[in-house]
Amino acid sequence: MKLEKIYQATIDKWGEEAQYDQAVEECAELIAALMHYRRGKIDQQAVIDELADVSLMVGQLSWMFGADEVEKAVIQKRKKLDMLLHRGEPK
Ligand SMILES: [Mg+2]
Repeated sequence: MKLEKIYQATIDKWGEEAQYDQAVEECAELIAALMHYRRGKIDQQAVIDELADVSLMVGQLSWMFGADEVEKAVIQKRKKLDMLLHRGEPK
C-alpha cells in the first residue's frame, strides 16, 4: 500500500486528532529512548525503532499539513543552517 493511502486510512479509521496525539506520543518515546541510550540502558536498535515511529508520524503530519509547504520550510531552514555553519551567505 502506498504511504499516502496509509495516511488517509489512518484518518478514516481513527480521525485527525488521534494522529496529533500519536505524533506527540511517538516523540515522547523517542525522547525517552535517547535518554536511556545515553545511560546505556537500551541498544541502538531500540533507538532506531523509535526513530522509525517518529519518521512515520512526521510523514503522516507532513501529508496532513501539506508536504510541499513542509518541504519549502525545510529548504529555508537548511539555508539558515548553512549560513550558521559557514557564517556567510547561503550557496
Ligand atoms: Mg514508538
